Amino acid sequence: MKYIPVIGLEIHTELKTESKMFCACANNPDEKSPNTNICPICMGHPGTLPTINKKAVEAVLRLGIAIGGAISRKSHFDRKSYFYPDLPKGYQISQYDAPFVEGGVLEGVKIKRIHLEEDVASSKHSDGKEENYTFVDFNRAGVPLMELVTEPDIKDGEQALRFGKELQRIMRCLNISDADMEKGQMRVEVNISLMKEKDKEWGTKVEIKNLNSFRAVAGSIDYEIKRQSELLDSGEKVIQETRGWNDQKGTTVSQRTKESAHDYRYFPEPDLPELTFTEEYLKSLKASLPELPEEKRKRFSEEFNLSQHQIDDLLDDQHGAIYFEEAVSELKEKIESANIQLLFNYLTSDLRGIAKTRGKDMREINIPPEHFAHLIFLIQNGTLSSRIAKDLLLKMEETGSDPETLIKEGGIQFMGDEESLIPIVQEIIEKNEKAVADYKKGKGSSIAFLVGQAMGKTKGQADPEKLRELFKQELGKI
Ligand SMILES: [Zn+2]
Repeated sequence: MKYIPVIGLEIHTELKTESKMFCACANNPDEKSPNTNICPICMGHPGTLPTINKKAVEAVLRLGIAIGGAISRKSHFDRKSYFYPDLPKGYQISQYDAPFVEGGVLEGVKIKRIHLEEDVASSKHSDGKEENYTFVDFNRAGVPLMELVTEPDIKDGEQALRFGKELQRIMRCLNISDADMEKGQMRVEVNISLMKEKDKEWGTKVEIKNLNSFRAVAGSIDYEIKRQSELLDSGEKVIQETRGWNDQKGTTVSQRTKESAHDYRYFPEPDLPELTFTEEYLKSLKASLPELPEEKRKRFSEEFNLSQHQIDDLLDDQHGAIYFEEAVSELKEKIESANIQLLFNYLTSDLRGIAKTRGKDMREINIPPEHFAHLIFLIQNGTLSSRIAKDLLLKMEETGSDPETLIKEGGIQFMGDEESLIPIVQEIIEKNEKAVADYKKGKGSSIAFLVGQAMGKTKGQADPEKLRELFKQELGKI
């Protein structure tokens, strides 16, 4: 390649705290009614004084420790002055020269810094049909916002995607943010330029903003590498600008060319004290960290023999992972050679499907892991067909009952055993001379007809595969 991509990310994340960064207003991203969670402090009234949200500071420190960054023992907040309608005070409280965290590595990408600041209000533009208005909702103003900046270590879209996903998993695991990109809780900006390989000359930097999925992050990077390479190949220049992502077309589009650099006039926030973190405090934070995704990955691979892909699936569904572990331990109590793959498959397809249609996460589903494990046990030992299991799972969610109780109450019979199925198979064979004759003549499809008849007879409670097998066996005797 003639050019070396130089790519860095800036990731803003809204922290999941009870209250805002510098006042007692609720931090509620789901609040639909505008300008509800506001007070004189977050509205920037003169004479008000901010206080620091300890939980938000702790969240940044915990992430810093989790990614192996260096924590500043002394730090402070700064004022970043600029004028914009979504910024009530005329300045944002942020951190400039003393971020809480410097360094650290994730997915082979070095972290430059992680600091804490406050979010701004959200603005909504009227559709312009009558008059043009911009509405400003201050519910978000003052919400704790963490900014993570990487070194320009990233080489392509795929690496950026892996980095973003792993960061998201860690933040969810630490319970510091839901980090939902579609909801704007995690916002990724890309800085990208191409360096000429032969003279190592730096290229012009392009920013890509408003990316609301990891797919968009990866897609925009790969597109920009191609676009900028083609420009340089044809002797043209890359313009310094901000671009957005068109999801339908899969291209980046110019949004605005770079205005003159802002002078933010940073200076230490005089209304807030300097922060000092003792070694004991940082040690206690470190000790309180939960099992992190990388550790979990290793353990899940060793304990459950799942593939990396399967493990990542569980890591992306935190409550699903907890559910999985509990269900596996229940299943192991019932049967020594527990079929963990079977449990994983039912959990990630049927059970998760039910949870989704009910609008629940795996923590809220009305089936305790013990009942789910029992169902898997009944499938594993051949008592239940997959068809009945699916229906039963739905009933279990509706009633909260265990599968045995439902089977007894609902008159669902144990149809998996050959003893009860063989008489039915024999009866169907006797009653359907023509189909049997056709089968004997080599018409294979006749067996499907016979299985259908038997399914009708058992009210769909038998396993069609088992029936097919028994028909072959019984027809072979004729
Ligand atoms: Zn407030």
